[in-house]
Amino acid sequence: MEEKNLADLQTLVSLCKRRGFIYQSSEIYGGLNSCWDYGPLGAQFKMNVKQAWWKAMTRRPDVVGLDAAILMHPTVWKASGHVDGFSDPLVDCLDCKNRFREDTAEKNKESKTICPKCGSLNLTEPRNFNLMFETNMGAVKDESSVVYLRPETAQGIFVNFLNVQTSMRKKIPFGIAQIGKSFRNEITPGNFTFRTREFEQMEMQYFIKPGTDEESFEKWKSIRWDFYKNIGLRLDKLRYKEHGLGEIAHYAKAAFDVEYEFPIGWQELEGIHNRTNFDLTQHQEFSNKKLEYFDEAAKEKYLPYVIETAVGCDRLCLALLCDSYREEVTTLDNGKVDTRVVLKLQPQFAPNKVAILPLSKKAPLQELAGQVFETLIKDLEVEYDEAGSIGKRYRRQDEIGTPFCITIDFDSLEDKAVTIRHRDTMKQERIPLEKIEMYVKQQLESF
Ligand code: ATP
Repeated sequence: MEEKNLADLQTLVSLCKRRGFIYQSSEIYGGLNSCWDYGPLGAQFKMNVKQAWWKAMTRRPDVVGLDAAILMHPTVWKASGHVDGFSDPLVDCLDCKNRFREDTAEKNKESKTICPKCGSLNLTEPRNFNLMFETNMGAVKDESSVVYLRPETAQGIFVNFLNVQTSMRKKIPFGIAQIGKSFRNEITPGNFTFRTREFEQMEMQYFIKPGTDEESFEKWKSIRWDFYKNIGLRLDKLRYKEHGLGEIAHYAKAAFDVEYEFPIGWQELEGIHNRTNFDLTQHQEFSNKKLEYFDEAAKEKYLPYVIETAVGCDRLCLALLCDSYREEVTTLDNGKVDTRVVLKLQPQFAPNKVAILPLSKKAPLQELAGQVFETLIKDLEVEYDEAGSIGKRYRRQDEIGTPFCITIDFDSLEDKAVTIRHRDTMKQERIPLEKIEMYVKQQLESF
């Protein structure tokens, strides 16, 4: 048997559509570019990913959660620098009409930008294109009613810093974690859910005493690395990349990306930034409200520094799907080639933990299978599937990453036992009915 990894994104796109993970948004209208809808399995999978991050970040004494609104006071985005600075240099190719970001395109020996599509140097001057989506609040549409769809979740955390600190009686150092939608009118979205215009972020801002930032930055780098290790991403597909001086965002003193090797190459998964006290300083100035922290023990006041960890939820979902995808290719005795596609997701991420597969639709089997389903569904995501051949049903569950299949056959009526099939090894075990729940739960824990 030969094991193959995911060769290209297109293979995953079609699996995701075929199996109910991810569909093109508004598909019946021809689709909306760069927007994607998570289907039933995708929605559960994404929820599992968020839960893993949320648990890792907030089940600590020093980090609390937040869920701030998407729409914020427009001055927030002036203070943060997004109104003036959150833009990409946009260039049009006069020959092939391709529109692209100048900063990401290759240059020739004379440092002239080359069109990535046709290689032409015949381009428009770059013009700055603000990535924020604008809308209007209230009945009147004019300049005074402009609000923005947030381009990052971080600002909701900064403006609530003192609310959270005082209401939760937090002492520095402490962090605020948040999961939520962000919107960026990206010039070059694409590569499935890798870069979209509407996406979900999982961000944490850790407020610290100035001077302790470098040490805290190192601490979070290692905590976040361990997170990726623990969720099972292959270590040879993960690396850290430090931003050079020219690449660091306006707000940051140091920045590291956690990169993952997608089928499209090494790309950013998460950014870890030392944001200094840039954001709080700006908000203090623009709001005219003091945002200083009072350290009672030391009797001193200061504006905290901030270490940020920011990962795209959709991007992490994509990395997990790419990472867990396997094709097991076997040449059969008759010379034919059989390919088993398996998503080797950790059970915590699998949308179904168990599939219940009665071998026949006959009443006594259905009844018994129904009882097993009712027992397990109380605590676990369980799918009941009685349609089609058992081989095809196994293959479907393999493709969606279900760790265990429970087959109920005619013998089950006699010996009061079922067959449990393991996804990765395809090993089958006969387990008495009364032990199924305990067995499955133990297996899931020790996976
Ligand atoms: P890029 O330079 O690729 O545009 P960024 O460095 O601006 O991204 P951040 O602002 O640091 O990204 O956002 C944090 C995380 O949010 C990124 O690491 C990524 O996982 C995710 N993210 C950012 N933009 C998008 C997008 N358009 N689609 C999906 N995820 C995104």
